[in-house]
Amino acid sequence: MRRVLALLLLALASALLPVSRLSAQQGAVLLRPDRVFDGDAMHAGWSVLVRDGRIAAAGPAVSAPAGAREIRLSGMTLLPGLIEGHGHEFLHPYDETPWNDQVLFESLGERVARATVHVRTELMAGITTERDLGTEGAGFADVGLRDAIDKGIIPGPRLLVAGRAIVALGSYGVKGAPEWNLPKGGMEASGLEGVEKATREHIGRGVDWVKVYADYRWGPHGEARPTFTEEEIHRIVEVASSSGRYVSAHAATDEGMRRATLAGVHTIEHGDGGSLATFQLMAQHHVGFCPTLAATDAVARYAGWKEGVDPEPASVKNKRAMFQRALQSGVAMCMGGDVGVFPHGDNVREAVLMAEYGMDPIAVLHAATGGNADIFGLADRGRIEPGLLADLMAVNGDPSKDMKLLHDVTFVMKGGDVVRQPQ
Ligand SMILES: [Zn+2]
Repeated sequence: MRRVLALLLLALASALLPVSRLSAQQGAVLLRPDRVFDGDAMHAGWSVLVRDGRIAAAGPAVSAPAGAREIRLSGMTLLPGLIEGHGHEFLHPYDETPWNDQVLFESLGERVARATVHVRTELMAGITTERDLGTEGAGFADVGLRDAIDKGIIPGPRLLVAGRAIVALGSYGVKGAPEWNLPKGGMEASGLEGVEKATREHIGRGVDWVKVYADYRWGPHGEARPTFTEEEIHRIVEVASSSGRYVSAHAATDEGMRRATLAGVHTIEHGDGGSLATFQLMAQHHVGFCPTLAATDAVARYAGWKEGVDPEPASVKNKRAMFQRALQSGVAMCMGGDVGVFPHGDNVREAVLMAEYGMDPIAVLHAATGGNADIFGLADRGRIEPGLLADLMAVNGDPSKDMKLLHDVTFVMKGGDVVRQPQ
């Protein structure tokens, strides 16, 4: 009787195991592309062996052990699964629905349903990890979304989530007539005690990162101006880091970026008004930078800009010039485009623009893989080397020759499971 019970329990346990975990244990897989980008450099003629969800070997002379399945990726480049540095799974493009209306009129149920579609689309596009920097009005639903993916309930990238994000009282939208206090896209906080409480609440709700808006468009003419004091941001960093978490700061003004850097944040997002001196300060303090070129580009298009027909708008020109200063400073560059502003699955628009605006293509590929892994402290992924997670993707051709090829995804593997195969 006891044996029958044990067998029953065993059967039940395997039935409850996510499908993904079972398939990852089904023997070794040898991947044979034309070339491998290992997270740092390109190598022609390499093969990669995957076993038990991890990379077992990579190099020019890897042979298949007996019984291994072989997948030939002819004409293709195999890369580490891409790491999206800055996304919003709970947003969809603003030309479909303006941000205000998404926050005010879309129910939490609808937003979660949309997010489950977004994460699947992104995984199929080769994004195997994504840092999600705020639900923008969808509460802490990102924590549950992350966990549902990790439990194998829905397919998606491994998420690093930031919950509601912390905004300064009075600075953030949705803004209406002054007599109405409308729902906000972030958690409002003010003063040292206030930001401390907001940070602790985020930690308690299960975020991986703490996101703070160091500036926002609350100037007298609607222009971006710093919001939190350096002391307030420092308090957020102090509390977050004592819990083992990093802080990301939205900052588009030079002063907001300077304060955030001196306060000890780990990454800065956007950086539109960053001076060379501030980017150098960031480099000196080892602050990573996500330029979000693709968001600015998308917003300009939504406002009617037709590339090649109209002159380049000031916002895009400014972004190009800013990016040059950032490159010159040597700041650690993150591939993070603010996807959600533009369609999920088109994440690599950011990489394409980084190359177009003058960054070395190998450095761009590094930013999207090993570089983001380094900035985010993810030692178990972002590179193709023995022992790391078998999160991989392949594209047709050589993206270091033409970055647009990153859109042409043929193969995706997450934790050793093939989620997309060449046709
Ligand atoms: Zn964002």
